[in-house]
Amino acid sequence: MTSSISSKWLVPDKLPNGLKFQCSTSLGNLVSTNCAALFFRQLVKCVEEEHNLINYHFKIQHHRKKTDHMEVFVFAGDDQTKQEAKSAAVCSSCDVEHELSQTTLLSEQKYTYSWLDSRNRPKLILTPKRHIERLCELNDENGEIEAFWRDAVEVIDRECGNVNELNYPLLAINHGTFRKHAHLHLKIDVTKDIWENVIIPRHRDKINRLKQLLKQVELVKDCFTKEHLEREIQKGVIGN
Ligand SMILES: [Zn+2]
Repeated sequence: MTSSISSKWLVPDKLPNGLKFQCSTSLGNLVSTNCAALFFRQLVKCVEEEHNLINYHFKIQHHRKKTDHMEVFVFAGDDQTKQEAKSAAVCSSCDVEHELSQTTLLSEQKYTYSWLDSRNRPKLILTPKRHIERLCELNDENGEIEAFWRDAVEVIDRECGNVNELNYPLLAINHGTFRKHAHLHLKIDVTKDIWENVIIPRHRDKINRLKQLLKQVELVKDCFTKEHLEREIQKGVIGN
């Protein structure tokens, strides 16, 4: 296990539509050696200040063959919508008393909350408690940024059962015009196997309550922008 950051991890390969960082460590190792804040602070600086990317999809994936290697992808295609989504009337990541928030909340940590996905997709969500919209807004001085990544690893370990490099969830954060929710959301995409065999059985009551709640447009509509709500109704995710 390494206890420092290699400068090589912060030199990305250029992709046609973005950047790829390759790191010979896992997210778990970065966290257990207290290097996550330093690594992600520098990585985001490279993306936003050296490569001038503001609107992008950020993805962390563990290598399937080399144990303890992870890759960070930054996709910034030119097909994104040009305008940022307007804020919803209620930020369900801030207003924990809202029924949709109460139904999906899994745990509270010092700086973060973990949730089921509010549209009942097979993923978990981690959010900072503060309403911030970008990774670069996480605070260094009080340990918030290190805690954010530590909480991500702990939530995955706690909720997903036995995870290893073969079934480790994909992690994603949308920035700028790629977002649907204004609040920073770390999306934890779990495998079908983990979803069906670990998370559904453990949270069956909450998931059933969420399904019922999503049928009642009036009760959840304030948590979505008008455009987003209409799309979800069309897809049959919200409403009958
Ligand atoms: Zn918020």
